[in-house]
Amino acid sequence: MSNSLVLVINSGSSSLKFALIDTVSGESTLSGLGECFGLPEANVSWKINGEKQEYKLDDSGNHHQQAVNRIVALLEELGIKQDIVAVGHRVVHGGEKFTKTVKIDEAVVQEIENLSDLAPLHNPAHAIGMRVAMKAFPTLAQYAVFDTAFHQTMPAKAYIGAISQKLYKEYGIRRYGFHGTSHYFVSREAAKMINKPIDESSFISVHLGNGASVCAIKNGKSVDTSMGFTPLSGLMMGTRCGDLDPSIIEFMLKKGWSPEEVFKELNSKSGLLGVSGLTSDCRGIIEAMENGHEGATLAFDIFTYRVSKYIGSYMVALDKLDGIIFTAGIGENSQPIRSKILENLKIFGYLEDEEANAAARFGNRGIITKPNTPVAMVIPTNEEWVIAKESMALLHA
Ligand code: ADP
Repeated sequence: MSNSLVLVINSGSSSLKFALIDTVSGESTLSGLGECFGLPEANVSWKINGEKQEYKLDDSGNHHQQAVNRIVALLEELGIKQDIVAVGHRVVHGGEKFTKTVKIDEAVVQEIENLSDLAPLHNPAHAIGMRVAMKAFPTLAQYAVFDTAFHQTMPAKAYIGAISQKLYKEYGIRRYGFHGTSHYFVSREAAKMINKPIDESSFISVHLGNGASVCAIKNGKSVDTSMGFTPLSGLMMGTRCGDLDPSIIEFMLKKGWSPEEVFKELNSKSGLLGVSGLTSDCRGIIEAMENGHEGATLAFDIFTYRVSKYIGSYMVALDKLDGIIFTAGIGENSQPIRSKILENLKIFGYLEDEEANAAARFGNRGIITKPNTPVAMVIPTNEEWVIAKESMALLHA
């Protein structure tokens, strides 16, 4: 009987993702998704042996509870419930309170809820997920792993904004950074790839998914990152605008937009989608660009230019650079995006190895620059794995 299974839960406001991770083999033995919570079509689905199974949730409400109850029943049916030793929860925002993974009790859930001001879409939903999981697995230790925690090592010059300190002290307005578990994971894997101890290596990690961020990592620690007070800032993303002159917001408000409309525009209708007028999906952008679509071509150019600018600027945060790491959906798979970024960085000596760049896709890792030139590499991220490992480590601490 295995005693290495950790159930990883990522509870959102209208969805709940779960994955069962074997912390010895590193494999995800089961994963699934509850979605459309609060709507008549609410359901939970999972894949077994490649085959999707779906369970409809009833309209009696509390879909988070119903979904977790169904997951528990599924684990019982599969005869693996007793092999699970811990539950790890992904939490978007730990504020300044949480600098590392913690064991969950009611006081911790309350603290996470208290940070809802900083992450109104995420933290309340995490708290719901934790409470239902605590009910469903009353005997298991549960842990909270924070997206922000890895960035708590940033120096003040990186996290304090150029605004009155009063705003930081009264409201906690500062750079927090996100995607911390991903930047943490890929930098550790990158150090192994180049045979250097992590505390003697420096990387620029480039997480390009629907959300996207760059992180400067010095001796294994985050020293700067492009997402800020919220995940809206920094890079251009699938639907998010990234860095923007704040006066534009006042301008739009004066033009008659409501704050909610402005927020929706910048979060959900901007980025690749807004510029291309076509899609937020990078694959669609590249296909349309290859067919000569102007909006898609401009979206590609802005996206790659901005990533390159961030990489260039983060050289300032480091004494040396052992590698640029590309990860997440776009970073792991898109040869043209990586190729253009490396071309933009040619002033620093980067030279794409076209064959290696073409090969590093669909889960394949590798160095994608020519020998004896500065290193760029592709490393698939694995946030669930980090959450499971951190939970396991605390369980045995
Ligand atoms: P999320 O932030 O939702 O976790 P992902 O890391 O899954 O996002 O990344 C989603 C993005 O990855 C999408 O823009 C998608 O088009 C892109 N992507 C996935 N596979 C490929 C591919 N083969 N080529 C280019 N882009 C890809």
